[in-house]
Amino acid sequence: MPVTQKKTEVSLVGMDVPALEKILVEIGEPRFRARQLFNWIYARKVPAFRDMRNIPKTLRRRLESEAVIHTLTKVGHSGSDSDSTRKYLFQLVTGEMIEAVWMREKNRVTVCLSTQVGCAADCAFCATGRMGFRRNLTPGEILDQFLLLQAESEPRITNVVFMGMGEPFLNYRNVMQAAELLNHPDGISLGARKITVSTVGIIPKILRFADERRRFKLAISLNSARQEQRQKIMPVAKNYPLPELLSAARYYYQKTRNHPTFEYVLMAGINDSGNDARRLIRLIGELPCKVNVIPYNEIGSKIKRPDDDRVERFVRTLYNAPFTVTVRWSRGVDIGAGCGQLAVPLNEDPR
Ligand code: SF4
Repeated sequence: MPVTQKKTEVSLVGMDVPALEKILVEIGEPRFRARQLFNWIYARKVPAFRDMRNIPKTLRRRLESEAVIHTLTKVGHSGSDSDSTRKYLFQLVTGEMIEAVWMREKNRVTVCLSTQVGCAADCAFCATGRMGFRRNLTPGEILDQFLLLQAESEPRITNVVFMGMGEPFLNYRNVMQAAELLNHPDGISLGARKITVSTVGIIPKILRFADERRRFKLAISLNSARQEQRQKIMPVAKNYPLPELLSAARYYYQKTRNHPTFEYVLMAGINDSGNDARRLIRLIGELPCKVNVIPYNEIGSKIKRPDDDRVERFVRTLYNAPFTVTVRWSRGVDIGAGCGQLAVPLNEDPR
């Protein structure tokens, strides 16, 4: 049963050491306790203050009455037929719901996290876009998805992708704070190259990401090499034309020497012809990168998934391209956990 946290309680997940120090100093505690708290929350991932053995009892009691560790409440989850994919529903303190996905493939365990409630980008192929935008998630709400999924996952989570509900670059600061905390060596300590931030192509933020020399991987949702077509399926593309987007991706490569990934959701009769593939090769040119082709996961709209032959033909046309090409056969489609399928009714009552 979901338990909604009292709004007056402070949730500690999402805070870095200086933020924890501030809270502790305000209540007359020494600064060094902040590092202890940080370690218990992120490295040891304990579920309760009472487990924090090197914290004095009086402080533990005070924290129990005035703060909480987690900010999200797990409402439920569903597993795919093979149980290699699970979709989780979480409730926020403000009552809204978000989803996150856990996927296992051999030794690799990837979680796909949400960054916003709903999304303003309104991509035609995406269930989240239909919800509209409600609000940005805080760093704590983003990070807590990871911690609660890790608590349920016997193998250690090895990879994080910010590809759930929302456009991460429209919530840049909070997503970066969550990513830095995931990567922090004294906490969760997930390698930067195991963390991928995905964007529909918000150019100013790609440039900022490059200028700040963030070490996380960058994925750009491209989906068409034709400006007109791209605008139809991704309205946000009107503000960010393809030539400028490709220049931004080149700038990112020059600044960081990291290869961007271009995501290409393949939709029947929209962007899956031989000409579309050849246009893609011309558009990307010699930019060192990877193209990830994702056969579309249907969400009940007019857009359909191409049949497997057509997917193969499209990919074959790309074989001679100077970039790497992979095909992602989405997992968890049977439970609505595939790419672009995440959405929750905004007024859903979980009880
Ligand atoms: S694909 Fe991503 S950016 Fe586009 S509407 Fe869906 S969540 Fe938003």
